[in-house]
Amino acid sequence: MKREIKTGSNTSMGFDDEKIRTFESVDAWRAEGERLFGKDVKKWKYKCPMCGHVAAVQDFIDAGLDGQEAANSAYCECIGRYTGKGSPKKGDSSGCNWAGYGLFGIPHGGVVVMTGEGSGQHIFEFAEE
Ligand SMILES: [Zn+2]
Repeated sequence: MKREIKTGSNTSMGFDDEKIRTFESVDAWRAEGERLFGKDVKKWKYKCPMCGHVAAVQDFIDAGLDGQEAANSAYCECIGRYTGKGSPKKGDSSGCNWAGYGLFGIPHGGVVVMTGEGSGQHIFEFAEE
C-alpha cells in the first residue's frame, strides 16, 4: 500500500509498505532488535544501505561516540562518517559517509518505523546474522 508520512516538521516521504519493511511502532521495531540481537543495544547491528557495511552500536562507541549518541547514530549513519571514509564506492563495503537523514535520504532499502500518527522515520535495516 502506498503511504505518505511526515518525517519531520517540514518533511515528508512517500513509500510503498509492500516494498519497504514497515514497523508500525517504535516498540515493534525494538522487539525485532531484541529478537535478533538481545536486550543489549550495543550489540545491535545495522546495514548501511549504500555500501553494505555492517556496524554494531559498539563500533560507534569504539569510534568515540558516547553510548546514547552511538545508539542514535547507528541506525541512520554509516560508521564511515567516523572513520574518515568518503562517498560510497561500488564494491567497497568498508564504510562510507552516508547519513539517512541527509538530502538524499535512503534511496533504496532501509525500513520505516512509525513514530506516531502519520509520522515515521526511514532508517537503516537491521543486519540479520
Ligand atoms: Zn556506508
